[in-house]
Amino acid sequence: MSRIVQLPPHLVNKIAAGEVIERPASVVKELMENALDAGATRIDVALKQGGVELVRVVDNGCGLAADELLPAVTSHATSKIRSEADLEHISTLGFRGEALASIASISRLAIRSRQPDAAGGTELEVVGGGIGDVLPCGAPVGTLIEANDLFFNTPVRRKFLRSTQTEMGYASEAFTRLALGCPGVHCTLTHNERTLFDLPPVDDWRDRIAALFDRQLADGLISVESVEGPVRLSGYVAHPDQSRPNGRMQYLLLNGRAIRDRSLQHALSEAYRGLLLTGRFPICFLRLTLPPEMVDVNVHPTKLEVRFQDGGRLYSQLLGTLRAKFLSSDLTARMRGPVGTERPTEDEAQVTRLRQGVVDWATAALAQAGQGASTALLGSGSTGLAGPAIPLPVSSVSGPGGLDSLEPQLTMHRLDPADVRWRPESRRAPVENTNQQDAEGAATAPVGVTAEALLSSPTAIQVLDRYLVAETPEGMVVIDQHALHERILYEEIRRKVLAGQVERQNLLVPEPVDLAPAEAAAVLEAAELLRQLGIAVSPFGGGTVLVESYPAMLANFRPAELLRSLSDQLLAGDRAPQRRDLLDSLMHMIACKAAIKAGDRLSGEEIMALLGQRELAQDAHHCPHGRPTALVFSREELDRQFKRT
Ligand code: ADP
Ligand code: MG
Repeated sequence: MSRIVQLPPHLVNKIAAGEVIERPASVVKELMENALDAGATRIDVALKQGGVELVRVVDNGCGLAADELLPAVTSHATSKIRSEADLEHISTLGFRGEALASIASISRLAIRSRQPDAAGGTELEVVGGGIGDVLPCGAPVGTLIEANDLFFNTPVRRKFLRSTQTEMGYASEAFTRLALGCPGVHCTLTHNERTLFDLPPVDDWRDRIAALFDRQLADGLISVESVEGPVRLSGYVAHPDQSRPNGRMQYLLLNGRAIRDRSLQHALSEAYRGLLLTGRFPICFLRLTLPPEMVDVNVHPTKLEVRFQDGGRLYSQLLGTLRAKFLSSDLTARMRGPVGTERPTEDEAQVTRLRQGVVDWATAALAQAGQGASTALLGSGSTGLAGPAIPLPVSSVSGPGGLDSLEPQLTMHRLDPADVRWRPESRRAPVENTNQQDAEGAATAPVGVTAEALLSSPTAIQVLDRYLVAETPEGMVVIDQHALHERILYEEIRRKVLAGQVERQNLLVPEPVDLAPAEAAAVLEAAELLRQLGIAVSPFGGGTVLVESYPAMLANFRPAELLRSLSDQLLAGDRAPQRRDLLDSLMHMIACKAAIKAGDRLSGEEIMALLGQRELAQDAHHCPHGRPTALVFSREELDRQFKRT
């Protein structure tokens, strides 16, 4: 490697500036990048206490000469670029010459290094920026750098660090991203002396993916490859039945560097359009190789984002390659085919289960209403949408709870048969059958309502599979079915959480769920909080979390699905949220998940049940996110609109 030189000020000013060392994970990233730039074939990363106490990276790369230790920890000194022109074609992971200086300023840093032809090694210690002497020492060829006691001299920044587990999660994510980019390099990661990853060098990238994630996932991946001019795209995407509620399992490597790129992520979603339900994200491991001069990596301090010279072409290449692949594997047709001819996907099966849950729930609620029970339509209280079809016992966290514990002021909302105008299911009947001649009738009844239907159903219809329209004494109300149901369920779960009476579903055999390391850490950190919601989790090692129970309200969701959404919520903010806010956002999430969706066709009974419960919600006018659940059109308003006044 060339000598380290101090960059001149005009060049320093050209380099994207910004904080690079935010947390232990940043140290892991910078030190591993340096080891890779030094040509190492083996990199050992050791952490203590999530990296806060220690990050040590040992490599067998080219090493540093004795007189290079000082420049290495000096700001804007690098061996990787010399001039402004070099910025145009960067082929190393680092180039700003700032990482070691930054790490040295917030930790107790030690470097020990030896070049292959040197007689011995040298070492240097820097404590919070105070530089010690360069001393000879015994050392193997390569470099050891350790950062102890991170942020010891900047207590405010130290305060922003999260729990050991969470920091560890971020750190192992950083490790993962780099280890993915160098399958030929032996990489290990240990935490508090325990080995988390030992990744031997491999020829087949799939083997590195399997070692980092999960063999089954890796084996199911679909390989993609295309070369357009100097641009090569290769790697893997997952079958659409493997999807995630976030984009965190989308790994995009540009010349070995893990990046985020909105445009390419968009191309990816476009390729999967119609194959995934909305809100689901594909999994991918993609490598782009292109000449360094075709991309500017100097736009973001941590080089997470880059700027492509011809982003449009890359977009089309990615989209085109994936589309062609999906078409040739007949994936599109298979996914779009009618349910039943093929094994339904995870998502479809879930929708079907959920729909069945709504029907069961509504039927039960109605049966109860028929018996004149005074709390009738709140029947969903015991199991939410879960319905009765759950094989495992439902237990209440404390006491009998259930329907008996509901507030006494709740009254039943009865639908008056005299109000009944039509049956929602029949709204698609042929137009000829209608006999609404007068203007008033036409204004309230939809096209296609049969005469007898007008006599025997509730005063509400569903339109566009997402809104309920009902008559009120004042006029008319349009209700967002999802928002309303979400509100009702949210209040229900909140009441139960406060009373410590969330019904949970115990699993006879705990289910292991594989998560990204950061996700697993976040979930385990919140274990105690999750318990209040009826979710019991325990660590199983690596990124695997065992689910022992989950809320009965979400019985129709697979534990894996639930945990991924939870971790998503938990990782949503950068800073440790207040406990109460977190609980609240988790309750929102559960309510949102359990609620019927926009697009779910409801039966007349379901509509009645939902509207009945509307009266019971404390704030039926807003969904938990604060959006309105209903729009009211008064008679005066309607009259005015129709110019009757
Ligand atoms: P950059 O990587 O942007 O050049 P750093 O502050 O990370 O800046 O490192 C400064 C210099 O120290 C590098 O340019 C490189 O010459 C040298 N260096 C750092 N880490 C290593 C290592 N593990 N092996 C060999 N040289 C290293
Ligand atoms: Mg560097």
